[in-house]
Amino acid sequence: MNNPAALDVHDNRNTQRLVEVSGVRQVYHKGDNADLVVLNDVSVSIHEGEIVGLLGRSGSGKSTLLRIISGLLEASSGDVRWCGQPVTGPCEGLSIVFQSFALFPWLTVLQNVEIGLEAIGIPAAERRRRSLQAIDLIGLDGFESAYPKELSGGMRQRVGFARALVVHPKLMLMDEPFSALDVLTAENLRTDLIDLWIEGRLPIKSILMVTHNIEEAVLMCDRILIFSSNPGRVAKEIKVGLPHPRNRADPRFRELVEEIYAHMTQKAPTDKTEKRTIEGFPGTGIGMALPRLSTNLLSGMMEALAGPPYSGRADLPELATTLQMEADELFPIAETLQLLRFAEVAGGDVQLTEQGRRFVDGEVDARKHLFAEHLITYVPLAAQIRRVLDERPSHHAPFTRFSDELEDHMSEKLAEDTMRALISWGRYAELFSYDEASKQFSLENPE
Ligand code: ADP
Ligand code: MG
Repeated sequence: MNNPAALDVHDNRNTQRLVEVSGVRQVYHKGDNADLVVLNDVSVSIHEGEIVGLLGRSGSGKSTLLRIISGLLEASSGDVRWCGQPVTGPCEGLSIVFQSFALFPWLTVLQNVEIGLEAIGIPAAERRRRSLQAIDLIGLDGFESAYPKELSGGMRQRVGFARALVVHPKLMLMDEPFSALDVLTAENLRTDLIDLWIEGRLPIKSILMVTHNIEEAVLMCDRILIFSSNPGRVAKEIKVGLPHPRNRADPRFRELVEEIYAHMTQKAPTDKTEKRTIEGFPGTGIGMALPRLSTNLLSGMMEALAGPPYSGRADLPELATTLQMEADELFPIAETLQLLRFAEVAGGDVQLTEQGRRFVDGEVDARKHLFAEHLITYVPLAAQIRRVLDERPSHHAPFTRFSDELEDHMSEKLAEDTMRALISWGRYAELFSYDEASKQFSLENPE
């Protein structure tokens, strides 16, 4: 077999195009509510011989795109081709590894691997031969007759890989395949997979990997497509020219991680025809989705930023490492602070504003007042809840008064998260109180 790593991934003119997605749009209809545009004008192509990473935050539509590419889901509009042919149903020559292992608990490892071949009509003897080969390749030798419950998470995911590889697909799609594993197990499996890829031992031509982990993308991929949210689209393509095996401590590795951080924290471009949105916050005005973060976390982050060694400004990747957090956890915190004008996020850095410093310097009450002021000024939903409560003679309003309206703009899940975020922030700021039992907002005892 050719050594795929030896192919020049920067020049794909002579290699076959496996996947060609152009102008894909995906809209989910939500009953009576407004539609949810998950993907807009997405174009992606995957060539033979490369590992491509699709990097984006959770909810940005990565899994949706993967399902569209594999033919499991028909896009609302746009063109999707597999090996030059329009995709009309599940594609042959393509297999998927999911985050959850999706093994049949009542089948052995060997049977779990064989089952994919049965579906495509391979005779029994051949099934057995190929399955044993895949099991051996992926490091499961000796576990053929074990049942999934006897295996660790890492071993189960190896079964997932064996099952995907046994059909000798041209393209292996992976949807966050390492994110359910602990850190060491995940790294072990990544390295094994890359080693097999470099040695040309994987019976596949290309890999498309979905991830929210920047370092994982830089470690494994030849090309990284940075996916932005709301709606999902490819915002930027980054080529990773580093030779394997890659070293996370290599300055060029760090530089790429930095560069990607910077892209992922860029503000959306201001356009006169479009309302300005802060990247990371779906929607504007009342329809702005908010992440469920505690005020403790927000003030803790401001304190960490104000203190040494940062003195008000920190490099996000560095801060993530210090706080032992992943990008996915850090972004929403930094962006919420930006939304509230307590911090500015730009070029991969987060910097406290004047108001952010005032918050950190303040005592409990001063902090609450400042938080209340910013909440009312910069979060339209907070202002609306307060206005409704002020205007109603009873000074009461039910949860559903606001959640119903939110659901016109976003999914039920996002609306619930947004309401919960607002309730905890508003309680902290003493803007209103909320009674869980009656599901009522009120101005009673706002202390
Ligand atoms: P990711 O994999 O990047 O986390 P997904 O593709 O799973 O994102 O989901 C993108 C958005 O689409 C989310 O807001 C999710 O709630 C919504 N979504 C996904 N599948 C459906 C569906 N079948 N019906 C309605 N909304 C959906
Ligand atoms: Mg997903």
